[in-house]
Amino acid sequence: MGYYFACGSNPVGFDPLERLNSMTKSRVAVPEAVRQDVIARTNNRCCVCQTPFVQIHHIDTDPSNNDPDNLAPLCPNCHNQADGRLATTVTLNASRIKALRDRWYEYCERRRESSNVGPNAMLKLKNFVRSVGFANHGWAKTFASVDLAYKSMNRDEIIDHLFSTTNRDDLVTYLETVKYMYGIPRQIDEVVRRFEDVCNAFGVSYEELG
Ligand SMILES: [Zn+2]
Repeated sequence: MGYYFACGSNPVGFDPLERLNSMTKSRVAVPEAVRQDVIARTNNRCCVCQTPFVQIHHIDTDPSNNDPDNLAPLCPNCHNQADGRLATTVTLNASRIKALRDRWYEYCERRRESSNVGPNAMLKLKNFVRSVGFANHGWAKTFASVDLAYKSMNRDEIIDHLFSTTNRDDLVTYLETVKYMYGIPRQIDEVVRRFEDVCNAFGVSYEELG
C-alpha cells in the first residue's frame, strides 16, 4: 500500500543532500510483514505525538537495517524532526525515540488487552455496509476530514484503518458517523437491529451513540 513511507522516501521537506547521502547506503524496503506489525502494534499512530498515519523511521538512520528494534512509527512531522531535516527545539535522538516507542508499544498492548472488541466486529461492519445499500455520502469524502489519506482509499480499506483503533472514544465517533451516513434512525427495524449488533461487536451499545 502506498500510504506509508520509509526513511528516504518521505516527500515532505526532504533535504537533497541528505537524500544523496542516504542513497549511497543500500536501500532495503521494510518487509511488508514487519511494516504491518509496527502499524498494528501502534494502532497506526505516531509513538511521539500519537497522530494517526505513520511512516516507518529507521532509528540508526541506516535504511537497510530493518531489525524491528531499529524501527519506530512516526508521523511525517516527527519523522522530519527525527531525521534532522527541520530545525526544532526538541531533538528526537535515537535513545529518546526508542524510549517513547517502547512506552507507546506498552500502552497500546494494555489497551488491546482491556478492549472488548469482538473478533468478528470488522467483518460484521463490512457485511452490514455492503448489505445496507448506498450511504448519503461516500466513505472517502466523509472520512477525508479525519485524514486526507482516506480520499484515495476504498471503503474496506477505510474501515480497516478506522475501526482498528484501540481508542474507544474514536470508535464511538466513527460508529456515530456510520449511523448518520446510512440514516440508521430512519431505517426499518431489521436494519437498525443489525446495526445494533455491529455496535455490540465493537463493545459499544447503540444507545451510547449521539
Ligand atoms: Zn508525531
